[in-house]
Amino acid sequence: MINILDYTIKEFEEFIEKLGQPKFRARQVFDWIYKGVSSFDEMSNLPKDLRERLEKEAEIGLPEVVDMQVSKTDGTRKILFGLKDGNLIESVFMKYKYGNSICISSQAGCRMGCKFCASTLKGLNRNLTSGEMVGQILAAERTIRREALAEKESLPGLGQIDLKDDDYRVGHIVVMGTGEPFDNYDNLSKFLKSVHSQNGLNISNRNITVSTCGVVPMIERFGKEFPQVNLAISLHATTDSLRSSMMPINNKYPISKVIQAARNYMEETGRRITFEYTMVNGVNDRDEDADRLANLLRGLLCHVNIIPLNKVEGSGFDTVSRKRAMEFGNLLEKKRIPATVRRELGGDIDAACGQLRLKNRE
Ligand code: SAH
Repeated sequence: MINILDYTIKEFEEFIEKLGQPKFRARQVFDWIYKGVSSFDEMSNLPKDLRERLEKEAEIGLPEVVDMQVSKTDGTRKILFGLKDGNLIESVFMKYKYGNSICISSQAGCRMGCKFCASTLKGLNRNLTSGEMVGQILAAERTIRREALAEKESLPGLGQIDLKDDDYRVGHIVVMGTGEPFDNYDNLSKFLKSVHSQNGLNISNRNITVSTCGVVPMIERFGKEFPQVNLAISLHATTDSLRSSMMPINNKYPISKVIQAARNYMEETGRRITFEYTMVNGVNDRDEDADRLANLLRGLLCHVNIIPLNKVEGSGFDTVSRKRAMEFGNLLEKKRIPATVRRELGGDIDAACGQLRLKNRE
């Protein structure tokens, strides 16, 4: 049984031809799937025998919604998905003024071992396939749409109002959920091509961001292969001893290597890089940290995204006040390094990376 979501249109055309069908049927199937249909039976322009054949040999591998938390303050939804083999993964659906955005996972678990992160506490179970990454988006859209339709029905006055695509469609993707995307590069690459494809979700590369903890060789490869996709690098510290104590990857690729890779990336692509800086109380939040950070990033086309730590129980790390995060950002701005403090969405739900998944495993 194949998962169609793992297939590019070209691969699926070959599959369809092997079934003895003309290849334009592949496009019809893709159209239905990306329009929101979940079963072959509903694909009314396909001959019945093809629908039956697909039923037997293929599936639209959407993950199952196991749990969902909805923020009362901003409508952020954290969705816990179950995969076919029982693995659990998380996605976060967020509403912004400019449209809907989703944060997806790239692995079930993670082997990078960052000390402040919940996603890596139990190690890596396995890589996600590209179809499992696409599946998170399609399943989230379907869930939000179903929810909105149910709400409309329960409120008769709203019956007149049409549900607009923008109400549930995802326009922006960040690969910042569980996992290290550059530790699963081939599937990530297939995923990026597939969501960008006109036969897929048709999302502009500029609306997609991939975040890495700093796997240097892959940063260079990514710059060459996906120059239009946004890159974010998790830096979090300005000295090697501190960064290594927070992020084991730094033992392999120290700060100087990461900055050099960023420089090469900038020269190759001309694109601005986002540096993520998770602030931890008493660890990396002093004025001299801001000074060092500004010095490190001088001359780079970049932007710093300050994230006050989401506390993970038992990690021993504490968060900083929003006020301190703002002050830190102002210190950077004074040194002409653009910085913003991440807007806190879903503060009232298990928003911290990997927390919902962790809770459900115990
Ligand atoms: N592995 C990739 C992407 C997933 S993590 C990476 O490291 O970039 C996405 C971002 O969330 C990273 O910057 C990560 O360091 C940060 N993060 C992880 N746990 C966090 C926590 N408890 N609080 C705040 N940020 C966290």
